[in-house]
Amino acid sequence: MVEIKLKKGKEKAVLQRHPWVFSGALDKIKGAPENGDVVRVHSANNDFLAYGYFNDQSRVAVRLLEWNEDYVIDEAWYEQKINNAIQSRAHLLKSKYTNTCRLIFSEADFLPGLIVDKYDDFLSIQILSTGIEKAKTIIIDILVKALQPKGIFDRSDATARTHEGITAENGLLWGEAPAAFIEVRENDITYHINIAEGQKSGFYCDQRDNRKLLAAYADGKSVLDCFSYSGGFSLNAFKNGATTVTSVDSSALAIETLKQNIELNKFDSKNHTAIQSDVNKQLRIFKEEGKKFDIVVLDPPKYAPSRSALDRAARAYKDLNRLGLLLLESGGLLATFSCSGAVDIETFKQIIAWAALDAGKEVQVIRQFSQPEDHPVRLSFPEGEYLKGLLVRVL
Ligand code: SAH
Repeated sequence: MVEIKLKKGKEKAVLQRHPWVFSGALDKIKGAPENGDVVRVHSANNDFLAYGYFNDQSRVAVRLLEWNEDYVIDEAWYEQKINNAIQSRAHLLKSKYTNTCRLIFSEADFLPGLIVDKYDDFLSIQILSTGIEKAKTIIIDILVKALQPKGIFDRSDATARTHEGITAENGLLWGEAPAAFIEVRENDITYHINIAEGQKSGFYCDQRDNRKLLAAYADGKSVLDCFSYSGGFSLNAFKNGATTVTSVDSSALAIETLKQNIELNKFDSKNHTAIQSDVNKQLRIFKEEGKKFDIVVLDPPKYAPSRSALDRAARAYKDLNRLGLLLLESGGLLATFSCSGAVDIETFKQIIAWAALDAGKEVQVIRQFSQPEDHPVRLSFPEGEYLKGLLVRVL
């Protein structure tokens, strides 16, 4: 097996179990690895440190998998990691109220570049590293054996793949193709999901707990759900007694799916307004109209794809939240989220503080939101913590 020696001092992060070795940390490569091959990583003193996937096209030259030298990265190894990941979600898998969740979350489950989401009997997978791409057949066999799905669909059309020098894929990998819309359940609410064309892998199951937490405040309230997608927050709010819900999203497919979901759950569509529009534009229109809501949800897409985009993203988050706060009166609630890994919770609080100041509102944080248990964060890999949010009350 190819051996890669790190520069002196660069072993530290690996010893702390951080799973990324940046290209600048490499000293010598003994052999000629192909991208995606498993290599041995050694310290400058030639001590074994870990096994990982090599890729010279990526800023992360080695994605580490295993720190125990005695293990072999073979079929049995993959089977153990996959089964561990599935078992750690066992109680979610047994839930009567939810049949969709993330089964494998990349580095957090020691499978860097592999994401597997379960949608009832179908699996939607994203392969974001060359190492996982090479092991694809083994991984599919193991998933079939462990879960007996109806079908496995590849949604690897993510930009992350281009950083790894692999082309985007979107298609059936195994079994039966899912219908255009399949039905799944989350928090006892039914959703239509379009696995092939929906966003991300079809649904944002990372907001499951937060939708439920927020819905507890919705009884008798008017709710504005911005960046609503297929209606996660809107539907949970209705289920918990919201009187009216207004949902805004720029995507036609999202609005269409959300309307289907309102019907599917037999909520009264007279109490629902779906607006296909840019949120920033729509919030300004509401402000000019003097419109007010009891609860405003802001769940935008990732504004900061990397640390270098942080300043610009911070301004965008601030402006968005300022506009959201302007639609609330005293006692109103703002549920605001960021799914940018580069924005940590302290930075996010600071941004919301600026937004409140600009909006001329005094606010208090009554809850913090985070990502759910099926999106765990390895403490040795803080980059895995991406979703955060605040529930803020206007005083
Ligand atoms: N809250 C959703 C997930 C939001 S994902 C849920 O619970 O499922 C982000 C959504 O923002 C996507 O549906 C995308 O179509 C939408 N979006 C992105 N930019 C937008 C914009 N400028 N205005 C309105 N919607 C936007």
